[in-house]
Amino acid sequence: MTTLPTVLITGASSGIGAVYAERFAQRGHDLVLVARDKSRLDALAARLRETHKVAIDVLPADLTQQIDLEAVEARVRTDARIGILINNAGMAQSGGFVQQSAQDIDRLIALNTTALTRLAAAIAPRLAQAGAGSIVNIGSVVGFAPEFGMTLYGATKAFVLFLSQGMNLELSPKGVHVQAVLPAATRTEIWARAGIDVNTLPEVMDVEELVDAALVGFDRRELVTIPPLHVAGRWDALDGARQGLLSDIRQARAAERYQPQA
Ligand code: NAP
Repeated sequence: MTTLPTVLITGASSGIGAVYAERFAQRGHDLVLVARDKSRLDALAARLRETHKVAIDVLPADLTQQIDLEAVEARVRTDARIGILINNAGMAQSGGFVQQSAQDIDRLIALNTTALTRLAAAIAPRLAQAGAGSIVNIGSVVGFAPEFGMTLYGATKAFVLFLSQGMNLELSPKGVHVQAVLPAATRTEIWARAGIDVNTLPEVMDVEELVDAALVGFDRRELVTIPPLHVAGRWDALDGARQGLLSDIRQARAAERYQPQA
């Protein structure tokens, strides 16, 4: 019998990460749960151990703090049982671009992009060496939508998509599955934490539905999974348009419309 890989989930104390923990425990995987709130992680771990008879480690960490991030990096780098990383911890923003403090900017980028990238980079060489494993990065449809007025948050999520696409090109030939999951509005604490009343949003997906859909994409080894996108061809068209644009880039000469007038 093959042993299932252990799954390390960041941001497992609530919302999407907590449901991923539940679902992977149901599937019989051992878990490592990461977030700042140790008591919530302990309570979730106790419940899942009891219900699903899996082994669960709790690794409390503030991923915006170097020392904590280094501890989680060391864990994914060296613990050969960990074969799946769910890079989920993230935060949103309230207010517009001009209202943010330097600290707000640093914290959002540190969590949503730096920590996610560092953990992916810490585990990738080992998975590539093993020729197996998965890295799941949680992005957002906001990364497509500067119109939503969450400029910095959306920029971090656009980064997550690009990072996942680039990682996929390098890692999938080595047997490593990379998945970018792009939720739209989902009923979790992220909204209240950012000072937004989720009940003011016109449409919101339940978190269980979001994670179950993301896992359908995971099981199909999709690169990009957008659970709320109802017309799959829209993504293919967007990606096709991007590749078409690239085919019209000529590196040696500026385009005719940019030639200085004589
Ligand atoms: P959530 O319920 O607020 O969960 C966020 C998780 O991240 C919590 O477990 C939180 O735990 C953890 N976290 C926050 N700051 C952290 C830090 N400094 N260090 C370590 N862990 C930290 O929100 P969620 O909706 O499930 O968010 C999960 C991911 O989904 C995020 O990347 C988010 O951007 C993305 N997403 C959400 C939505 C949505 O509408 N909900 C839509 C698109 C994308 P602690 O407080 O215990 O640290």
